[in-house]
Amino acid sequence: MTTTPDLTPLTRLGSGCEIHLPGDPGYDAARTPWNLAVDLRPAAVAVPRTPAEVQAVVRAAAQAGLRVAPQSTGHGAAALAEGALDDVVLLRLHALTGVTVDPAARTARVLGGTLWEDVVAAAAPHGLTAPHGSAPDVGVAGFLLSGGLSFYGRRHGLSVNTLRAVEIVTADGTLRRASATEEPDLFWAVRGGGGNLGVVVALELDLLPYADVYAGMLLWDRERAPEVVRAWVEWSRTAPDSATTSLRVMSFPPLPELPPFLSGRDLVVVDGAVLESDADADALLAPLRALRPELDTFGRMPTTALLQVHMDPPGPSPAVGEHSVLGALDESGIEVFLEQVGPGTRSGLLFAELRHLGGAFGVPAAGGGALAHVPGEYALLCLAMAPTPQAAVAGRAAAFSVVRALGAWSRTGLVPTFAESKVDTSRFYDGEDWVRLCRVRDAVDPERRFVANHGI
Ligand SMILES: Cc1cc2nc3c(=O)[nH]c(=O)nc-3n(C[C@H](O)[C@H](O)[C@H](O)COP(=O)(O)OP(=O)(O)OC[C@H]3O[C@@H](n4cnc5c(N)ncnc54)[C@H](O)[C@@H]3O)c2cc1C
Repeated sequence: MTTTPDLTPLTRLGSGCEIHLPGDPGYDAARTPWNLAVDLRPAAVAVPRTPAEVQAVVRAAAQAGLRVAPQSTGHGAAALAEGALDDVVLLRLHALTGVTVDPAARTARVLGGTLWEDVVAAAAPHGLTAPHGSAPDVGVAGFLLSGGLSFYGRRHGLSVNTLRAVEIVTADGTLRRASATEEPDLFWAVRGGGGNLGVVVALELDLLPYADVYAGMLLWDRERAPEVVRAWVEWSRTAPDSATTSLRVMSFPPLPELPPFLSGRDLVVVDGAVLESDADADALLAPLRALRPELDTFGRMPTTALLQVHMDPPGPSPAVGEHSVLGALDESGIEVFLEQVGPGTRSGLLFAELRHLGGAFGVPAAGGGALAHVPGEYALLCLAMAPTPQAAVAGRAAAFSVVRALGAWSRTGLVPTFAESKVDTSRFYDGEDWVRLCRVRDAVDPERRFVANHGI
């Protein structure tokens, strides 16, 4: 028998924090994550504006016997919806945002619900940038605390390694600062432990010394996929760590809001960034350009423009996906990939992506946290649009089918930020790190107050 939680401690917060309960007019809007395919039905939604309000919500939730799920945007909400949320306060951080750049120290202090586009915009006037992912509106906290693959990554490593300190509200409602010298165990754990340790209300990170970057995309019709995929895989085997790129086979529905080069088309696209001079980047890309792409946007651009290169959706969208980490791809691996998504196939996916790993992604960072590197050659990410529950079921099956087909080339590890559905989270970490992470979590949150999308 389930009992209805007593929400009085939360409702008593009054003007101390915006709270939405089931049945309230604002509840549906407040519980809707960025990923519109995900239906979250928590006991309450809290929208704190200050760290003190976060503390009050965590304490009130504890009093009410409720758990707390921190969320910045809901880009990574899919796995959260797989568990019951009727005893969970969804703590949405979109009202707790802001960026302060220290140009001399080359660092930024970012509040817990801030988006990457705002960090990049604040850093750019100082000739600096941030280790963001492909989409402008992903949350800094959710991305960094789970590793983060950026287009600077094969040179600079997993983005989480840029973290210098966090301010975090833990299960007892205390606001703590964790860094290499303050609460070092907690600092180690939060760098890869996602939302399992507490609510991160501020982060300090190192910025990257780039005012502009050589970046862009090459685009061909999917009919060219056999030669393009082979050429890119061959090229990626020896590409220097200055180049971080991705290859996607994409299928767009005919939509008036899409530009003609995308609408209704099946394509193969290579995009990313090359941290070299124009001449060296041109020389490096020459073998791919020799395949005469229909569109070539690679060139020097302000770092702010790198946020648009991957053509991620401009706002909340419904999507489902599956991923795996692959080792080296030989000819038979390429053939299987093409059999799944190459010319003539109807995979039902929006895209099947090979994100190039290796380089600094694969090297454990000195002094790093629970997740400091990702071994493997490529992250395989398959995504389908899911505007209806039926489309979600079909999309998940389609994504899983490609991941399964490439099983012989896959490794045991996974990339937390690419994990859509619930997975065995011990696969994110090296064995001993997993054990240590669980130990720190048990010390800091013995009652398991916090619910992360990927629980440990
Ligand atoms: C369009 C798109 C493009 C993407 N591109 C990339 C990419 O290039 N590289 C890459 O690595 N990933 C990428 N991702 C994946 C993305 O990085 C993850 O989904 C990430 O977890 C999203 O973080 P968020 O804060 O926006 O999402 P949320 O769903 O809000 O957060 C995910 C989880 O992080 C934790 N969390 C969030 N905020 C806090 C906080 N303040 N305190 C404590 N815990 C918190 C929670 O456990 C939460 O469930 C992409 C996703 C999408 C949808």
